[in-house]
Amino acid sequence: MTQSYDVIVIGSGPGGYIAAIRAAQLGLKVAVVEREHLAGICSNWGCIPTKALLRTADVLHTAQHAKDYGLTLEGSIKPDVKAIVDRSRGIAHRMNNGVGFLFKKNKVDIIWGEAKITKPGEIVVSKTQKKPVEPMGPVPKNTLGEGTYTAKHIIVATGARPRALPGIEPDGKLIWTYFEAMKPEELPKSLLVMGSGAIGIEFASFYRTMGVDVTVVEIMSQVMPVEDAEISAFAKKQLEKQGIKFHLETKVAKVEKAANSVTATLEKKDGSSEKITADRMISAVGVVANIEGIGLEAVGVKTDRGFLVIDGYGKTNVPGVYAIGDVAGPPLLAHKAEHEAVICVEKIAGLPNVHPMDKLKIPGCTYCNPQVASVGLTEAKAKELGRDIRVGRFSFAANGKAVALGEDQGMVKTIFDKKTGELIGAHMVGAEVTELIQGFVVAMNLETTEEELMHTIFPHPTISESMKESVLDAYGRVLNA
Ligand SMILES: Cc1cc2nc3c(=O)[nH]c(=O)nc-3n(C[C@H](O)[C@H](O)[C@H](O)COP(=O)(O)OP(=O)(O)OC[C@H]3O[C@@H](n4cnc5c(N)ncnc54)[C@H](O)[C@@H]3O)c2cc1C
Repeated sequence: MTQSYDVIVIGSGPGGYIAAIRAAQLGLKVAVVEREHLAGICSNWGCIPTKALLRTADVLHTAQHAKDYGLTLEGSIKPDVKAIVDRSRGIAHRMNNGVGFLFKKNKVDIIWGEAKITKPGEIVVSKTQKKPVEPMGPVPKNTLGEGTYTAKHIIVATGARPRALPGIEPDGKLIWTYFEAMKPEELPKSLLVMGSGAIGIEFASFYRTMGVDVTVVEIMSQVMPVEDAEISAFAKKQLEKQGIKFHLETKVAKVEKAANSVTATLEKKDGSSEKITADRMISAVGVVANIEGIGLEAVGVKTDRGFLVIDGYGKTNVPGVYAIGDVAGPPLLAHKAEHEAVICVEKIAGLPNVHPMDKLKIPGCTYCNPQVASVGLTEAKAKELGRDIRVGRFSFAANGKAVALGEDQGMVKTIFDKKTGELIGAHMVGAEVTELIQGFVVAMNLETTEEELMHTIFPHPTISESMKESVLDAYGRVLNA
């Protein structure tokens, strides 16, 4: 007999699993279809395992600088690649088990297999054709299997996969995607990273701290191209001090493979070219959405540049079919997927006062050393939009806590609308800024002004005081600089 649900979610990543749990909380009968791993890319191959690797890099970096803190370390400290990767994979598996537990607790059915929409309100689940990236653990217990299922509402949360450039396709051996970069068997001596978005820069930072000779190639004029140019330049300088080499406005035109190395031909904007040889290369040139083979053509769901087109509540053009997360377009971030999930499900459940997604208030974080975090408009974007702005800056070098921590390389930049005093952008680089940015996100969500921020008391001594000083600086009232 065909099982019927109020909501079926395809994909159990941060978009899918949060949608399922919120729908269950609202009293809807829910199932999630998953073909490979509970918790999606984020917990298995993205946010969490990279942060585990980067934590190892932080510990190594601190140990290497023990002398700066008055400590003598006897003997040498060396990375043990297998132990580092095992720790990261162990953490990924723990998070993935956690999602299985949450489904059980919230009475969400898991359907194991590959989902395809056959008509509005109906999906067929078949045995997955996708080869898992690493041997799968046991399929979670008590899952449903292949068959036909119906639902009033189908939410597509199928995520994305690495983009491959023609002629430079990853082969998993010499040219890696994030999958292979996440679990190296040994450290290469040299590494070429193609693309300096968050994924490329995080891996560059990790491998450089592990002692690898790292070169980053970026086609745009700055690293982390979506970030504020000043913050990006600051981060680049720090990463260069650590030994990372950058080629900006440069494209990898061709890659020749040898037995145990690659030679890339780099073409610069000025027409010149050069060749670089490295043991391994990471292709980090973005992702493509998983829109194929899920029956979208059958029901006529609209796409644009490879992503599903949705409104602010996750609705596609086809009634009863919704999309959230990476498959529904940028920014390709887990917290964006999660928030879209909640909005979408609350709208389905008919809750009052559901606010549509406001993409300007989605923070972005890169966990390299130094970290980078931002929300809202960059200075360049604000000017491009014709906004009359005031800009404040504050350096960590003048912040007591940052200096005490030995982390005085950083800055906070704030951007205000000159007329209204509204905070329209905040950009940070330095220690723990990925934790600090949330203060500005809350402020922006409350449509705060400079006045309210100046009247907010920040604890002393904390790096967060730099946030307030940056606000004061925008209004000519900075105290500690
Ligand atoms: C290396 C790396 C680091 C990252 N770091 C961060 C970070 O620090 N912070 C951040 O916010 N974001 C980060 N991201 C991005 C983040 O992982 C994604 O934005 C997030 O996972 C998207 O969630 P999602 O639910 O849309 O899709 P996914 O997490 O991709 O999940 C989709 C799920 O759908 C399943 N699926 C697909 N098709 C089918 C089908 N037909 N039937 C059944 N199941 C199907 C897949 O198996 C998968 O489990 C990182 C990504 C990478 C690659």
